[in-house]
Order: sequence, then C-alpha cells, then structure tokens
Amino acid sequence: MRFCKRCFYPESHPLNIIIDEEGICSGCRVHEEKFSINWKEKEDKLKKLLHQYKSTSGLTYDCIIPVSGAKDSYYIVDLIKNVYGMNPLLVNYNKHYNTSIGHRNFAYLKTRLNCDAMSMVVQPQKVKKITQHTLDKFGSIYWHVLAGETVFPVQVAVRFKIPLIIWGAHQGLDQVGMFSHDDEVEMTRKYRKEHDLMGFEAEDLLKNSDLDESDILQYIYPHDKEIEKTGVRGIYLGNYIPWDSKKFHEKMIQKFDFESAPQQRTFDIYNHTDCVHYSGLHDYIKTLKHGYGKVTDHASRELRWGRLNRKEGFELIKSYQNIKPSDTTDFCKWIDISEHKLFETLEKFRNPLFWKRDKGEWELKHSILSADNNLQKFPTQNKDTTCNFILTDSKVSPEKEYTYKLIEKGFVIND
Ligand SMILES: [Zn+2]
Repeated sequence: MRFCKRCFYPESHPLNIIIDEEGICSGCRVHEEKFSINWKEKEDKLKKLLHQYKSTSGLTYDCIIPVSGAKDSYYIVDLIKNVYGMNPLLVNYNKHYNTSIGHRNFAYLKTRLNCDAMSMVVQPQKVKKITQHTLDKFGSIYWHVLAGETVFPVQVAVRFKIPLIIWGAHQGLDQVGMFSHDDEVEMTRKYRKEHDLMGFEAEDLLKNSDLDESDILQYIYPHDKEIEKTGVRGIYLGNYIPWDSKKFHEKMIQKFDFESAPQQRTFDIYNHTDCVHYSGLHDYIKTLKHGYGKVTDHASRELRWGRLNRKEGFELIKSYQNIKPSDTTDFCKWIDISEHKLFETLEKFRNPLFWKRDKGEWELKHSILSADNNLQKFPTQNKDTTCNFILTDSKVSPEKEYTYKLIEKGFVIND
C-alpha cells in the first residue's frame, strides 16, 4: 500500500486517488492550484454567473443554499446574501442526529443572516427503518443523511422552479483531486450515487428488503426531465474561491458567533458540531471499511494549507484514530438493537484489505503510522502558522433562558 509522501492519504482512498511518479497524490496536486489560480478572474466569473439568476422583480428566490447547523453554512450564506446580494432560500434536511449546538447554530443562522428557510423532517419511523436496513446491508448509519441532504435541495429547486443550487466545496475536488478547479465541476446524479450514496440510490434499497416505495419516497431524486425543464444546476463555490474551511469557520465565529464543539475522533471542532454520530460511530465505521478516519482527512487538509507539519499530523492521527466511539449506546437505543448486535453487524464490514488480527486484537495492516512511512523518510516541512482551533463559549446560559426557548422554536431574537 502506497501513501502520499506529502499528506496522509493511502492510494486506496474510496474516492480514488492517484499517486504520481514523485509520490505525491492527486489531492495534493490539485490543492497546489489554489496558489497559482487567478482568483480575481474566477470571482468575476462567479459574479457573472450569479447575476444571470438574480430576479429582476426581487419577489422570487434567486437560488437555493443547502444548509445545516455546521459545515460552512454560515460562510456560504453570508457570501451569497451579503457580498453578492442574492436572495437565497435556505434548505435543510433534518438529519435526526442533531446536537443542541447544531440547533443553536441553525437558529442563529436563520436569524442573523435573516433568510427564509425550509426544513424537511422525514417521519422518524421511516428514518429508523431505512437506517436498520442500510446498517445491515452495507454498514451505513449515514445513508439517509447523505441521501436527504443531497436530494431535498433538488426537489425544492424543481418544485419551486428555483434553478440554481449553491454548494460549498466539492469533496472529489478538494480531498482527492478527482477534478481540477478549472473543470468547474457541477452537481450530478451520477457522482451523488457513486460517491455520496456508496452506490445505492433510494430505489436500490427496495431490492431484497422489507422497505416499500412509501418508505423511500422522500429520498427519490427528481427525474432528469423535471430537472431539465426547470434548468436546475448545482454549482460549487470551491471552484471560484480558494476553499479554506478552517479559515471560513473562524471568520463566522467572529462575525456571527458560530459555535464549535469538541469532537470524539478528530481535532476539527467546526465542521460537524451539529451531529451526534458523524465524528463518533459513523467515523468508526469509516475506519473499519477504509482503514482510516476523519482525522486523516482533517490532518491532510491542514497539512496542505501548511498549518500542520507531518510530525504533528502523525501525532493527531495516532491519538484519535483508535478512539472507541461513545455514542453507540444512544444509537442502539434509538434503532432498537443491542450493542453486541451492532458490533457483530459492523464486523461484517471490516475490510480484510486493511485489517489483520494479531493475538486476538485487530490492527491495521497498512498504516501511515507504521515504520515504512516514518518521519525520516519524509522529513517535516517548514511552516509559519499553527493549527489551533477555537473552542467557543456556549450562547446558552441561565441568564439567557428566553433565548434558549426561542431556539427551540427554530429562531432567536437578536440579543
Ligand atoms: Zn497527498
């Protein structure tokens, strides 16, 4: 197994990574573009593109922005609304795994950025039934979230004839360099199925299962004809702006009091503060399947920006990668299975390409932390910044009980 000589990714990355003759991965190569692109030109292009979709009457929405209580949502909305003067409709899929901080961040997003928002809460029993199925069939507790977050904005776009959907970074571009910035890749049904949904569209869940069509209705992607009729397209801002998630979240902490929260299995405390399971059980499963977890994604990203050196990255991966998730009890209670049954099911998805058993203990066969990938071989580079993440104070305190009640209603007063 080869690993990139610069970042921490193995060549087995599920989004496909190519390691070149110098031992550098395609993700690192595409990241290099961020330092050579004429971003002024790109921004002008974005401005022109947005202008085409601006309503002349000002009475209709110009675009849809998919949002949550974390993950660059504040930055995207602030940019599109306040910098480019668009009138967006915020669209949110309720992931059912929400944290209190996620609720607060979403409530403040709607209030401080002052936008209309639409949420989809799929019937809890359906979500549970689908998750029981996806856990059993392909070891995913997150399929419904990924499917819901990527389908609901498209459904709204078609239904309300709002042809432009604006996303932040494209994972295939930013992590693994599947595309160059110049490809200006846009949202496709194909990428969504193959990568976001692990190859399973909603309809595919019906095969050999006790799910019926009514269970998966909310996750069905609109027909191509409907999409074409409205002219729906989804663009990624990462093609037009040098995407730097850490920097953007910190701006939003300063500007709008975005809240961060410690995460179980990674050091990035900004991107998934709204989810109980993303950096816990979900990430544990990712590690069983792919031999690495979110901490590797985050360490690679920070290293590419020069905020971490290789030694610091190794240390972070070492300290987070083997943490046992603490959210399994709650998950099992919700989905009605014992923890024993959960781990027994998950063992089916431990990938023998990456894992071996040694004296009864599972260990990774190929790890970035192993001797073959040691520091001497790839010395640390110089860097002039540090990689500190800001842990924010909570907005909720006893004196602010009224604010808290309003958050429960989904919005807040400007306090
Ligand atoms: Zn790399």
